[in-house]
Amino acid sequence: MHRISILKREWLDDEAFELTFDRPDNFSFVAGQHVTLSLHGEERDYTLLSPPDARELRFLIRRIRGGVLSGALAELAPGSSVGMSQAKGYLIYRPTDRPVYFVANGVGIAPFMAMAASGVRGFTLVHGAREVSGLFYRRALTMAASRYIPCLSGPAQPGIMLLDLHRGHVTDYIDRHLKPGLYDFYLCGSRPMIHDMTHLLDEHFPGTRIYSEAYS
Ligand SMILES: Cc1cc2nc3c(=O)[nH]c(=O)nc-3n(C[C@H](O)[C@H](O)[C@H](O)COP(=O)(O)OP(=O)(O)OC[C@H]3O[C@@H](n4cnc5c(N)ncnc54)[C@H](O)[C@@H]3O)c2cc1C
Repeated sequence: MHRISILKREWLDDEAFELTFDRPDNFSFVAGQHVTLSLHGEERDYTLLSPPDARELRFLIRRIRGGVLSGALAELAPGSSVGMSQAKGYLIYRPTDRPVYFVANGVGIAPFMAMAASGVRGFTLVHGAREVSGLFYRRALTMAASRYIPCLSGPAQPGIMLLDLHRGHVTDYIDRHLKPGLYDFYLCGSRPMIHDMTHLLDEHFPGTRIYSEAYS
């Protein structure tokens, strides 16, 4: 177990913030992996947002209403420390000849941001949020992806002009637009999204490989 100290916190919207920690010398990881953070006897998993060669460790965290650890992490002052496990998890990029789709909603974008920052290219990213403000890292990911598809599921807001914008959930987009074939899919975010996507892919795209991580 490592002990890491908070360097800074930056809010991205009303609920989500980035938390930056110092990096222990003997800590290594692969983009897409997560760690267990612990504080006052509570333990929760969080995905590393920064790439493996970064000098600091960053996380993207959504403050859950009534949530014990996300609430505490939203309040902790810089300089405070938390426990951190070794890196773990299998949501890591596997080079392939197949078309690669990354599908995320909410803070589930974190592993794909880490992969993009570590140099992974050639993927299509289908990125879901209620509103445009929830499409975290949209500009950086648009540059890294071969194709970036924003999917907004909330009420239409006037004046929003996004290239390739899909109105609806990420699942609707895949259902309507994906051509028959064999793909490698990486899914991260809410359990209902992962459930629906897995069901859709198993039913309509048999043989497609699915790697997934559910956050709730
Ligand atoms: C492998 C893995 C990686 C993860 N990575 C991240 C990450 O990078 N960023 C991040 O923000 N979270 C991530 N999570 C989720 C995180 O581990 C916690 O579950 C989350 O922060 C809630 O913890 P809490 O202590 O605040 O809430 P708790 O005190 O555990 O729960 C409070 C209430 O909120 C409900 N709840 C718990 N989680 C959610 C949720 N996600 N959405 C809605 N309601 C919820 C609970 O059912 C409970 O009723 C990850 C989870 C896993 C399994």
